[in-house]
Amino acid sequence: MIQLKNVSKYYYSKGMIASGISKVNLTLDTGEFVVITGESGSGKSTLLNVISGLDSYEDGEMYINGEETSHYLAADFEEYRKRYIGNIFQNFNLVNSYTVYQNVELILLINGYRRAEIKRRIEDILERVGLSEFASTKVSKLSGGQKQRVSIARALAKDTEIIVADEPTGNLDSESAEGIAKLLSEISRDKLVIVVTHNFDQFKPYATRRIKMHDGRIAEDDGDRKPASDAPVEIKVREAGRSEIVTGNISGMSRIRLGIRNTFNIMHKFLLLLMVFVFVVIAVTSEYTTFNYQKEEMDKLGWNDYFWNYSENRIVLKKSDGSQFRDADYKAISNVKNIKSTAPNDILLDRSIYLEDDNISYEAYPRTAEEFDGKLVMGRMPQTRNEVILTGYKDDYYFSEQVMSDIINKEYTIYFDDGRETKVRIVGLAYKDTEENGYMYSGDIYMTSDMVRELRKGVYNAASSISITINGKTQSGETGYYSIAVNKNVDEGEACVPEDVNNYFSNGRAQGEDIKITARNIFYKKSVTLDMADIYTDKNFESLTGYKDFESHYGTIFISQKDYDALFRKGNYQVSVYVSDVRMMDQTLAALENMGYVTLPLKDMLVNGADGITEIIQVPIAVIIVLALFFIAYFVIRLILKSRAGYFSILRMLGLARKNIRRIMDIEMVTVTNIAYLIFLGLVVMVKEHVVHGRYVNYIDTMIEYMNISDYVVLYIVLIVMALLISGKFARSLFKKTALGSFREED
Ligand code: ADP
Ligand code: MG
Repeated sequence: MIQLKNVSKYYYSKGMIASGISKVNLTLDTGEFVVITGESGSGKSTLLNVISGLDSYEDGEMYINGEETSHYLAADFEEYRKRYIGNIFQNFNLVNSYTVYQNVELILLINGYRRAEIKRRIEDILERVGLSEFASTKVSKLSGGQKQRVSIARALAKDTEIIVADEPTGNLDSESAEGIAKLLSEISRDKLVIVVTHNFDQFKPYATRRIKMHDGRIAEDDGDRKPASDAPVEIKVREAGRSEIVTGNISGMSRIRLGIRNTFNIMHKFLLLLMVFVFVVIAVTSEYTTFNYQKEEMDKLGWNDYFWNYSENRIVLKKSDGSQFRDADYKAISNVKNIKSTAPNDILLDRSIYLEDDNISYEAYPRTAEEFDGKLVMGRMPQTRNEVILTGYKDDYYFSEQVMSDIINKEYTIYFDDGRETKVRIVGLAYKDTEENGYMYSGDIYMTSDMVRELRKGVYNAASSISITINGKTQSGETGYYSIAVNKNVDEGEACVPEDVNNYFSNGRAQGEDIKITARNIFYKKSVTLDMADIYTDKNFESLTGYKDFESHYGTIFISQKDYDALFRKGNYQVSVYVSDVRMMDQTLAALENMGYVTLPLKDMLVNGADGITEIIQVPIAVIIVLALFFIAYFVIRLILKSRAGYFSILRMLGLARKNIRRIMDIEMVTVTNIAYLIFLGLVVMVKEHVVHGRYVNYIDTMIEYMNISDYVVLYIVLIVMALLISGKFARSLFKKTALGSFREED
């Protein structure tokens, strides 16, 4: 069935040509037990490798069942090896971490045998080589002779017509060698068995033919009964073995089985690998969340021109119909999930006021005393109209113990937006929650609602455009020419106006005529019509108003407190709420919008100078870190997988295609990744459910704060891709060597 005609094989190394075998003529047939002997370097291995298709030849022709092979490509020889050759190696080439059964099973899986068939076959073969009782023993626990039996069992399992063995007894004691020789001779009854040995005596009783090599040539061949001829040798085609193969190729299921088997095969290696992967998962997550965290911190560094209090927790609300907020609104709002507090006097939140005195100038944002939910450090709650509580940050100068006891229970002037002023007395002091207002380093001033209402009037006045209509002519206040102020000398329904209003009348007399004052702002529009009872000039200004400074007041229309209140004493058209958890902002906004409020989350309103920079710097850094992690992981994993190289070269020797080996490695990597990821998720759940406590828990806790569902998915994909890249890179480094190269390295 095998015929060599003048076959020569040369080796080229370092510019020298060495002849492996030269002009070998040989015909081999089924049923023969051929023993090749000869001194070292005589070409025994070369001849065997050429016959078994492991090595190419340069000259002559080798026929397999009469077919020429000189035109064969590497893939053809691979196919040939797979179909015809069963290998037995001097060093066994077994997977030590596999059991005897698994080692034999491996070759059958690779060749696509059915599972039921595999079981039956292996049992048969183990019986035949006398290893039945060792089926589930790990190969590493066997003696050399037993290992060689496993190796023979594996060669038999595939049921090929040719069994080749290079020094199969080289590593065995003479007793074991005797058994192996006997076993091989039994096999040769229906196969062609070719054995290379330097110890012919061991095989002498069983060999049917002895070929003696010398200097690359056949020196003796006692079985050379048929001289070499051109006629192809007739051989019987054995179909029985073939028909049991389903595809002849490894199935997807088998790849998965092998991949998973390999994952757990060597426990300490699996644990090591798992540790690396868990480390990688946590490192990648950590980097990712740090990235998110930094981005969020950078976002906070924005500013906003309209809302000075730009706490990221703040949402500004208006009613969609533009009406005032009522008690029912506050109640409904406070019931919304994730809302921590409500600031009804929203309009004041962005208008800080200054507490002024000789020894203090403190900026604070007005709130109502009812909103105060902190703990007083000193003093008490406000009781009368002018009493206030002041809050500030602990590290603020005014909030040291010493200064606090200095400033408490003293009166300070505050100025309203419309120029009015009043005195307030600090009766209580409290620290401000640092987190609440983000970067706004300013305190709050909690006042009675009466006082807040006064302040609000000032704001509405200052924020309104005032227009006046006299004698059918309207002067729009956009130029800011006329302003409105209270004067206690003016009666309700009357106005004290500057003399230029006379110009509205042809007779130059405005006194006693009507003036319509309209205040318009983003919230409302309100008009009052008054009688211009008094016209002031520089002469009568002081007697009419009680003020000395005519110049700076000119253009002011003085009205009564009642009418002023009608124009400016308004409730809240705008309310702010603070959320507890900014990350839940979207849900909270949706809830509020459903209730009929227009929402404006201030975190989205920041004009952010740092935004672009965050991405420009952070993204490459993140990429570099992930890449660095990838390479660290790769090198560590490669170290751990190094021992796998032997395993994979065994798979190659057994005829498994490169892409299948790659898939098996992928499956192993992906399995480990999945387990590492599950461990990570388990950790996340335990931390979330407060099952575990400790030093590192805080770290994980803040880490997962910045993760949402899609982040977990992205992380998973990143890890899987990383695992596949590692396995791909590792596979490539493995396959750089040829099958024979890595095979020889195994020797
Ligand atoms: P044996 O198995 O009988 O000891 P080999 O077949 O291994 O002999 O070697 C035959 C000849 O070919 C020797 O001279 C050896 O030096 C040479 N040879 C074998 N393999 C190689 C190789 N890979 N590169 C170069 N020369 C080789
Ligand atoms: Mg040799």
